[in-house]
Amino acid sequence: MRILVLNCGSSSVKYQFINTDTGSALAKGTVQRIAMAGASITHKPTGKDTVVIESELLDHTAAIDLVVKTLSHSDHGVISSMDEIDAVGHRIAHGGETFTDSALVTPSMMTVLHDCIELAPLHMPAMIRGIKACQRVLSDQPHVSVFDTSFHHTLPAQAYVYPLPYIFYDEYRIRRYGFHGTSHKYVAQRAALLTGKPFDQSRIITCHLGNGASITAIKDGQSIDTSMGFTPLEGLMMGTRSGDVDPAIILYIMDKEELSRREGNSLMNKHSGLAGVSGISADMRDVVEAMESGNERAKLAFDIYCYRLTKYIGSYAAALGGLDILVFTAGVGENSPQARTRVCSTLGFLGVELDESLNQKTRAVEAEISSAAATVPTCVIPTNEELVIAQETERVVNSEQPQTAVR
Ligand code: ADP
Repeated sequence: MRILVLNCGSSSVKYQFINTDTGSALAKGTVQRIAMAGASITHKPTGKDTVVIESELLDHTAAIDLVVKTLSHSDHGVISSMDEIDAVGHRIAHGGETFTDSALVTPSMMTVLHDCIELAPLHMPAMIRGIKACQRVLSDQPHVSVFDTSFHHTLPAQAYVYPLPYIFYDEYRIRRYGFHGTSHKYVAQRAALLTGKPFDQSRIITCHLGNGASITAIKDGQSIDTSMGFTPLEGLMMGTRSGDVDPAIILYIMDKEELSRREGNSLMNKHSGLAGVSGISADMRDVVEAMESGNERAKLAFDIYCYRLTKYIGSYAAALGGLDILVFTAGVGENSPQARTRVCSTLGFLGVELDESLNQKTRAVEAEISSAAATVPTCVIPTNEELVIAQETERVVNSEQPQTAVR
């Protein structure tokens, strides 16, 4: 099946056109600056040169129309008409408690997605706009939503209920939802294959370390705990997000600095993490470079980032009752041997030990990087959320009984 995978942001659309029979992308690209001056599409057909086309784009419908026209263009296209797109898979940040699996887009789903806007206000409006726009342009194709939250629907109540008055769970559905679910599931399955362990009978910890970062404990194929919570702010230290802090701190700072709710939110989400501590950058490459040239605050940012991740791995190993595989993925996890070395340096008691020469040379390829003495394999697995979305879309489209809301 040939599937168009879309990830819609407020002013951008990322896309991949994937052949699920081969598991490879026929083309990928990004539309930027939608509804702004200087809008353009950067399109990379596999095996051919990248093209950049500037075009005035009033809205997401115009952007998706341009994606489809570019995919079927006589020079840089990869299909001869839009009929060769079999289905569309949409990456959706939040399915609330309703969608525990990928599902066909229906009018009732759209109602639920609107209800989820207040749970993920930064992501959901653009994703909903993207679905509507795409349904206008590709009206004959089935559309499937694949949710970042759905892999975590197996969390037990002890992991998803916060120790707040229970009425807030009942009243507002305040609970841990978790994110990056497609990535955690994919890399855990690949690592199980790589190490020859059964995915559905293993205790796996997956560390997704991108701009946003989260860690998941997977037992016998199911997510039993994950570090992002009600929103993607909780958990690990990230590029610009604080992760876990004493919640009283934010109230204290807001009071002292007379910050509005919006400013308080921005402080925690956009000005904290690596950027906030180092004062240099949210990008781990810049932080490591500054640290290596002697910058103390960069070193502190790196130390906090790794220390907190190590603590989470220890606590998740306890939650799992042991560990069978440790996995690193996404930008930092795939590309930073320095971070992997530091994070694993005190995990020998769990049986985790790296082979430093394998670790140093492993970047963005699937590899086991543990030493011969390690009893727990550590793997680097490049994430491929687009492929998972394409596969999920195919599964839903092919299933006679489309998955529907459970409540
Ligand atoms: P996103 O969450 O936006 O998908 P990525 O998974 O691409 O993010 O991760 C982005 C982060 O990965 C960057 O901010 C950077 O810190 C980190 N990164 C990418 N390449 C390297 C590298 N070679 N060394 C260290 N960190 C890297």
